[in-house]
Amino acid sequence: MSVIIFADQFQGKVKKSALEAVQYGAKIAQQLGIPAVAVAVGEIDGTELSALGQYGASKVLHVADGRLNEPEAGAVTKIVAEAVAKENASVIVFSHNFAGRSIAPQLSARLKAGFVAGAIGLPDYSAGFVVKKNVFSGKAFANVSITTDKKIVSVMPNSFSLSPGSGSASVEAFAAGLSDADFKIKTVKVETVSGEVPLTEAEIVVSGGRGLKGPEHWGIVEDLAHTLGAATACSRPVADSGWRPHHEHVGQTGFTVRPNLYIAIGISGAIQHLAGVNGSKTIVVINKDPEAPFFKAADYGIVGDAFEVVPKLTEAVKKYKG
Ligand code: FAD
Repeated sequence: MSVIIFADQFQGKVKKSALEAVQYGAKIAQQLGIPAVAVAVGEIDGTELSALGQYGASKVLHVADGRLNEPEAGAVTKIVAEAVAKENASVIVFSHNFAGRSIAPQLSARLKAGFVAGAIGLPDYSAGFVVKKNVFSGKAFANVSITTDKKIVSVMPNSFSLSPGSGSASVEAFAAGLSDADFKIKTVKVETVSGEVPLTEAEIVVSGGRGLKGPEHWGIVEDLAHTLGAATACSRPVADSGWRPHHEHVGQTGFTVRPNLYIAIGISGAIQHLAGVNGSKTIVVINKDPEAPFFKAADYGIVGDAFEVVPKLTEAVKKYKG
């Protein structure tokens, strides 16, 4: 028996969200007294893989196929299914990130395994295998019981802080017998912006809304984000108006983020926006309208004009950091 964890990568580095999944899976393995085995695909440095031992993996099965540098869901589903059979896995863990959201449901159907998407707590074994998750856009919790022999869990990013130890995992080449027919989707182009912190992995997010009046004013958001080492985000109308790219849009119809700190600038706090950010650990709202609904969800609020407040805040952070 074992726990299998899919550890996805980006440009040769294991993603932070995947490290969280490995740590989560390793804790389950520890509780069950069985090994935690990570599965990695694509071209990744061996030291990067053995470092998964720091998060509790005892072994890494590595499919070093360059076609998987962008994980193709169909092919990876097959790989993980074969790893599950090889290692006789009873629990399979993914991050609830982009890859996990597409691979885990396919694996669930293939293995006829119960699946909890977006776990925010470790399983409770006192009543079987019960996993806590958010429902209704973060307005409530559900404790979901998985009763099938094989159990799949995807872990909500940024729900567990990383605490690496000193272990080292053995790395084993894994031949999953892939054929061209397993690659049904081809990644044509990957666009990245250099220096940008990936939004869904960021510990701090600085987000702007329609209160900033236009794209030409985004410099104050970017300066604050840069000073804090934060990712930038925006409300939906801002992305819809073309002021910011759509991959920055957070909310019910955009990305869900759970950073340690979410700073909302000139955003009213509509329920559809809150749905994507209300899992943030600390929320700071800057808005000139004291009645803006976002203040009700805020831990700290600043009533003031963003064009005065934000540059001052950036200066204060710079001074603090020395
Ligand atoms: P506004 O509502 O126009 O608010 C601007 C705010 O800026 C105001 O509170 C104002 O007081 C403040 N302001 C103005 N000037 C300044 C200044 N100088 N300094 C400081 N503050 C200032 N929205 C999302 O964001 N994400 C979603 O995923 C999403 N999904 C949706 C799905 C559906 C089905 C629907 C119907 C709507 C959805 N929306 C979503 C839209 C949502 O309802 C709101 O319309 C939107 O969030 C408002 O964006 P905003 O706060 O940037 O703009």
